[in-house]
Amino acid sequence: MYERIINEKRLNAVCAIELGRCNRCFGQNIKVDEYGISHCLDCYDYNNITSLDYCLRLERSLSHHNNVLRVGFHLTNEQKRGSQFLVNCYNERKNAFLQAVCGAGKTEMTLELIRQFLDQKKTVGFVIPRVEIIKQVFKRMKSYYPFTSVSCLYGGCSLVMASPFIILTPQQLIKFYREFDLIIIDEVDAFPFKDNLFLERLVNKSKKDDAMLVYMSATISDKYKKMIDNDELAYFLLAKRYHELPLPVPKFIQSDGLINKKVFTIINLLQKEDRGLIIYVSSIKKAKELQKIMSEEGYYVQVITSETEDKNIVLKLFSRRELKILISSTILERGVTFNNVDVIVLQSENKVFNQSSLIQIAGRVGRMGDDGRVIFFASTISKEMIAARMAIMEFNKQL
Ligand SMILES: [Zn+2]
Repeated sequence: MYERIINEKRLNAVCAIELGRCNRCFGQNIKVDEYGISHCLDCYDYNNITSLDYCLRLERSLSHHNNVLRVGFHLTNEQKRGSQFLVNCYNERKNAFLQAVCGAGKTEMTLELIRQFLDQKKTVGFVIPRVEIIKQVFKRMKSYYPFTSVSCLYGGCSLVMASPFIILTPQQLIKFYREFDLIIIDEVDAFPFKDNLFLERLVNKSKKDDAMLVYMSATISDKYKKMIDNDELAYFLLAKRYHELPLPVPKFIQSDGLINKKVFTIINLLQKEDRGLIIYVSSIKKAKELQKIMSEEGYYVQVITSETEDKNIVLKLFSRRELKILISSTILERGVTFNNVDVIVLQSENKVFNQSSLIQIAGRVGRMGDDGRVIFFASTISKEMIAARMAIMEFNKQL
């Protein structure tokens, strides 16, 4: 059901806050003000909601045309196994965890499962944390299911009410109540999902009682390992990328400060070949600082962060090699594919770079079956850096 907040009682509307619980986010962090009105503090960021409001829950009328799946390429044998694993989980009524390295083609492994749900006139939610990636996946899904009403949902765009297949941010799940028969969650082991009880509640609120959940991630935390051990979750590991070449193993180089002579020497060495270079830094402020320093040294660099307005233009310049060095905050850590790039991370001991994000960053290299280098510069080697390198070597052992 699709949920709207209204301020009058109507049929199919429930009081937004009752018995100390918020019906919009299922939270119990309720504050009563001096007028005796209750407010939910957990979902306060989504516009204040009070005990005077109502959640109006409406059954959507869905358009179920012919849900043909058209993929213009063949899945690799590994992808086929991943796809079959998900279908088997569905038949056995089990939730699934699909662990796959960056560049393994996880999205493609879900296509057959999604088709089966759509075929039975069921609803599918594909949850992706980043809007940039939602846009890419949305385009791909529309081409794979040419006759299906696929829609995307993130801040600032409105839902196509008839769509049985919605690609959305985790935050948008709040608008649904017992809606989805299948929810696929991408990057469940990274920000913002990791250890986030609020988002977990939204998943529970928006799924039907007998819904299937599919978690996807490059890494797996103890929480999910335990569920797998207890047989609450079926597990599949896909260690190969689609071109079946190993993941590049990051090299660690000791380096103090943001940038210095040693780093410049290595940048110059890498840039001798006609390759792109992405330099990751921990914050927008540092990205700007680095751009200033490098420009003063005579390098042509551009910055891409969440504040960059014309991201697509910058990305296009970079893929065409009209721009050879790109400085990025963690915004480009997942979901983007470039040919022939090297990657360096500056101050990779910073806590912004955890195991999962470092694996994702390393995964930007060699995605098209090409060669490339990954270098983490750090003043001291962090536990997260070691964990990321170990995980990559572990993946490569499975080849
Ligand atoms: Zn709430």
